[in-house]
Amino acid sequence: MLIDGHGRTVNYLRVSVTERCNFRCQYCMPEKPFSWVPKENLLSFEELFMFMKVAMDEGVNKIRITGGEPLLREDLDSFIKMIHDYKPDIDLALTTNGYLLPQTAQKLKDAGLKRLNISLDSLKPEIAQKIAQKDVLEQVLKGIDKALEVGLGVKINMVPLKGINDDEILDVMEYCKERGIKVRFIEYMENRHANIDLRGMHGKEILAKIKERYTIHALGREGASPSFNYRIEENSYEFGLIDPHKHDFCESCNRIRLTAEGFLIPCLYFDEAMSIADAVKKGDIESASQVLAQVLKDKPKENRWNEFDPNEADVSSRAFYETGG
Ligand code: SAM
Ligand code: SF4
Repeated sequence: MLIDGHGRTVNYLRVSVTERCNFRCQYCMPEKPFSWVPKENLLSFEELFMFMKVAMDEGVNKIRITGGEPLLREDLDSFIKMIHDYKPDIDLALTTNGYLLPQTAQKLKDAGLKRLNISLDSLKPEIAQKIAQKDVLEQVLKGIDKALEVGLGVKINMVPLKGINDDEILDVMEYCKERGIKVRFIEYMENRHANIDLRGMHGKEILAKIKERYTIHALGREGASPSFNYRIEENSYEFGLIDPHKHDFCESCNRIRLTAEGFLIPCLYFDEAMSIADAVKKGDIESASQVLAQVLKDKPKENRWNEFDPNEADVSSRAFYETGG
């Protein structure tokens, strides 16, 4: 079992397989010009998997593949299959922008993937285009349909932004309700890579929009998840809210993150990270285990997103497209 320096059990590993992306969401990536980490710096699937086996042997039973856009990485289904074949019972999920799902969903399902989180910030083509800086909506909606058709579990992530998509909270919720899928609204997290003019909606403001139409009841957190669940009285629909500006979920935080270059990150906010790249390139399992132990020992008690002032330069330097959110 993996226990961190504050006594928390860590059983959840998020693995970013690439920082590259086919979108340029304003809240996540800078505009071009943009230089990617050279491909030779990325760990191979075999190298990532070598570390993941150590983590799974020590008690990790939940893995999420993310990015950048994970579906850009060639043969991702073979990586999913490696994980699934090693531990068929593992809770194996993936976060994607959905654009490439029409052609990949079936292969992912066949490889052993169970669940997908798909980002959907708008149902209006021009607003989706404004946020992603690319005309994406039609293809993303096809991707969601395809994922449902092949039998993958689907959840939707939406980041409400003031003056951009804040009038679509109820529409996205209705879209999800009609398809029997859960939506989770994510508070915008300030970071240095995002468009400086963006203003996110706070959890309270998101709930206020929903209360304009519905009566809602707080249900509580789902285990160690950062998502706080609510139920709508009128139709029993359940949705989630992820509000990292509060940090009441830090006390039950159960996760660490691995980047495509091999950095092991104990907390999304903090810049600290240690590399397992050298260890796995040499096949040195012992050293990889030692890095894992050190990262767990140093895992911070709580995030600091509540301290951010979007007008100050001192916002998080952590890039979501590197860590996978
Ligand atoms: N490309 C995939 C996608 O968009 O779903 C996976 C990676 S993306 C970094 C993972 C999640 O992080 C997405 O749901 C995205 O909306 C969210 N995200 C990115 N930047 C964010 C920010 N500044 N604040 C809140 N959520 C953010
Ligand atoms: Fe790409 Fe996802 Fe970041 Fe959007 S949120 S730019 S889709 S990594």
